[in-house]
Amino acid sequence: MKNQICEFEKAVVKDFEQGIQNEKLAFHVKECAACREALKVASWMQNFAAATAPKRALPTPGFLWWKSKIIEKQEAGRRAAQPIVWTQTAAIILVIITTAWLAIKYQSKFSTVIENFSASIELIATPFLIAFVFAAVVCIAVAFKWREPSRKN
Ligand SMILES: [Zn+2]
Repeated sequence: MKNQICEFEKAVVKDFEQGIQNEKLAFHVKECAACREALKVASWMQNFAAATAPKRALPTPGFLWWKSKIIEKQEAGRRAAQPIVWTQTAAIILVIITTAWLAIKYQSKFSTVIENFSASIELIATPFLIAFVFAAVVCIAVAFKWREPSRKN
């Protein structure tokens, strides 16, 4: 095949792409090998573009920006709530440990504790005081860990 260049090639391809049927150009295409080749390529390109086109149109940039802002805010909220979740988990573990410790240590005195609740308030208060101090230390540690990244900014 010769590498021919025809002055009507662009016009032929443009008319094909726009779906225009020009009698004179149609007659020329029958006679000109270069235009027939150009038309074949244009047709193939159009089919290829149609076959590879995405099924769904992309969302608008404004929608993507809006959605990214929402995701950003949700992530910030999740990060902000994380110390609370850690503190809650620590508190739950603390309660379980304290309860188990109380149950084991004062197993024999437990019935007495119930009978003389007012007299044994110290017995109950001491472990809870220890637990409270421990929880406060955990809260302070978590708060400091949480504040660290914001200092860098
Ligand atoms: Zn031609």
